[in-house]
Amino acid sequence: MRTSSLQRPTWAEIDLDNLAFNLRSAKSFIGDEIACMAVVKADSYGHGATACARRLESGGVEWLAVATFEEGVELREAGIQTPILVLGGSWPRQEDLFLDLRLTPTVFRVDQAASLNEAAAARTMTVAIHVKIDTGMGRVGFRADEIGDVLDAFAGLDHIMVEGLMTHFAVADDLASSEFTQKQVATFEHVVSQFRDRGHDPKYIDMANSPGAVAHPYTRSNLVRLGGILYGLGGDVLPAGIDTPELRPVMAVYTRIAQIKDHRHGETIGYGRTFTANGDMRIALVPIGYHDGYRRALSNRANVLIHGRPAPVVGRVSMDWTTVDVTDIPEAGTGDLVTVIGSDADLSITAEDLARQIETISYEITCGISRRVPRIIKGDN
Ligand SMILES: *Cc1c(COP(=O)(O)O)cnc(C)c1O
Repeated sequence: MRTSSLQRPTWAEIDLDNLAFNLRSAKSFIGDEIACMAVVKADSYGHGATACARRLESGGVEWLAVATFEEGVELREAGIQTPILVLGGSWPRQEDLFLDLRLTPTVFRVDQAASLNEAAAARTMTVAIHVKIDTGMGRVGFRADEIGDVLDAFAGLDHIMVEGLMTHFAVADDLASSEFTQKQVATFEHVVSQFRDRGHDPKYIDMANSPGAVAHPYTRSNLVRLGGILYGLGGDVLPAGIDTPELRPVMAVYTRIAQIKDHRHGETIGYGRTFTANGDMRIALVPIGYHDGYRRALSNRANVLIHGRPAPVVGRVSMDWTTVDVTDIPEAGTGDLVTVIGSDADLSITAEDLARQIETISYEITCGISRRVPRIIKGDN
């Protein structure tokens, strides 16, 4: 049933031309000779992985990265040909499909390498792997001080080929902690030389995420893994006060006014009665709530834009509805456009703005825009 034209008017607009712009802008800032792995995990940070991957592929990106095997399968089924790294590694019994679909596994346990080796041996082929090293993030990866044992274990695995060595930064977004980032780089370089000493010849040496690649040029090596900045989300993950590539937002979120009501002085609005009308007020009801990813923490904090002016959220954001004050926007009426993220006339609200209001980062805002909100693709695909 085609109901898309009959839907509740709450939608996210995904501007693929801006995505392609950000890729070009980031590449020329970082250096065109450095390969770029576009991180499209988590449905491209909520923007829609297949549409984004397709456009990044036609924009010439060398690699894509996803978090899970399932995300990689989705892209292959959509016809994406570009090499895909699965950052979350392989789980038992996935090995054959990794090989069938040419998904490249990240390896951070010896048993993963052994299972992949076995699957490749059965086909008398070699499987390329990217080995993740934990140099201080304290999360995914082999500990740098255990690499001797890892290399011993790998020595018996003739059907794996270490194509990449990678690590991930904990505080590249914070220039006051640059010393820690430098320490991670030094630790990683030592591990790279240990691999080389044992006869491995990794083609890719990669460390940098968006803040690493932009703010710490010495981390660029020959491949950078870019997520946030491709989606125009630089505002809160890039350090302030440095030179950065020009970026444009890729996601905007809109809805329309469902109802307008006059409230009298002293009446309260919404669950918990957290807002009391201070004088006679005009309140607009808008069909977006926390199930759509418009977070409850934004209650009584955020603004939306209506007719180019800010309308403050009043009362609690509920699951499906939000109420905003349009007392000062007398021309507002039922059906009028409401900009939740995006620009209207001279004003704009970014994912970074919403993030700042509730002490999170823009990635969590865009990732959080749920499947109930259709993605409307703008630009060539
Ligand atoms: C998510 C992720 C990235 C991308 O980080 P951004 O800050 O979005 O550029 C890079 N590398 C790894 C391992 C990741 O998990």
